[in-house]
Amino acid sequence: MDIYLDNAATTYPKPDSVLQAMEDYFKNVGGSFGRSAHKRSNEASRLVFESREEIAKLVQAEDSSQIIFTSNATEGLNAAILGILGEGDRVVTTSMEHNSVMRPLRFLQKEKGVKVDIVKCTRKGMLDWDDMEKKVAIDTQLIVATAVSNVVGTIMPIHQMGMIARERDIPFLVDGAQAVGIIPMDVKKDNIDLLAFSGHKGVLGPQGTGCLYIGEDIDLRPLKFGGTGSRSEYEMQPDFLPDKHESGTPNLIGIVGLGAAVKFVLEQGVENIRRKGKELTAYLLGKLNAMDNLIIYGPLNADQQTSVISINIKLKDSSEIGDILDKRYDIAVRCGLHCAPIAHRTIGTFPAGTVRISLGYFNTQEDIDYLLRALREIAT
Ligand code: PMP
Repeated sequence: MDIYLDNAATTYPKPDSVLQAMEDYFKNVGGSFGRSAHKRSNEASRLVFESREEIAKLVQAEDSSQIIFTSNATEGLNAAILGILGEGDRVVTTSMEHNSVMRPLRFLQKEKGVKVDIVKCTRKGMLDWDDMEKKVAIDTQLIVATAVSNVVGTIMPIHQMGMIARERDIPFLVDGAQAVGIIPMDVKKDNIDLLAFSGHKGVLGPQGTGCLYIGEDIDLRPLKFGGTGSRSEYEMQPDFLPDKHESGTPNLIGIVGLGAAVKFVLEQGVENIRRKGKELTAYLLGKLNAMDNLIIYGPLNADQQTSVISINIKLKDSSEIGDILDKRYDIAVRCGLHCAPIAHRTIGTFPAGTVRISLGYFNTQEDIDYLLRALREIAT
């Protein structure tokens, strides 16, 4: 058996329709989009438009021009953070963030004197709401929070955070890398002004794809400037979406694959994907809980988390466990620190890290049973 349980890094396998759409674009279309006016370019433009429309549906954006294609979640987060914050501004974030949020914030803190206020989270990775209310001040220019922790899968209270942001008129940026395609996301209902996410994780698309949703009231400085195919007579960057933030020829084959992936996700239904994820997570958590010599981190409750589960086996190094799982059992997991040192400090696993098991849409109970047998053998 060869089992892939590293879906929080990137999902595998991808739906067949994604591979077919990408092959078809490469073999039969091949043109760039929004630039030339020949048939291949027109077809590419149509495919990009379709992909944008599907993504808008996935996150409930009003208009698909609010969806910007990026190379990953990191690029979207950087575009949002660097595009909003300036000299001496104040930002509120949480102690469960990924380095794709923390590093641009720490950069701005050092270079531009940006004040970074970090809301405390518990050892289970849950937000301390009283601390949130205390930290969000009148002079806060941005609130940025992950929707789901990539270390322990905690589903953060995005809806309540969005309400605070709206009440106090502060832009709200959400890191949806571990959430979009996995739990229902609705930018309107949750008052999200900016939502960055990967195309290659829960959305089931190819690597090198991601998106940034930009709300209508947000005026963002672009991260990149250059050719957009539009307003070619001007040397100034266009100021309308999506062109303002999409300079240069993008990863077209990736965007086409992403469109097919979103179609697949919408056909399955995110509610159904979440229901299946919850059932498998509850099953796995129940079995892990009954095992000796095991430490499980996070909420330990399938209602409060996604299928990302961090564990350790007592007296064993996490990378040693990962190595045995890979070499002896053909099981792929991720070990150590998961690009989120602040989250590991919060849950008490810094610097040793954890063994992270992350299930995807195509995993089955049989996969979990095989993993459990392997873990039992390693733990005894
Ligand atoms: N945020 C979180 C919570 C993540 O888990 C990841 C990926 N590990 C990222 C951001 C960055 O995503 P990408 O690799 O697509 O840039």
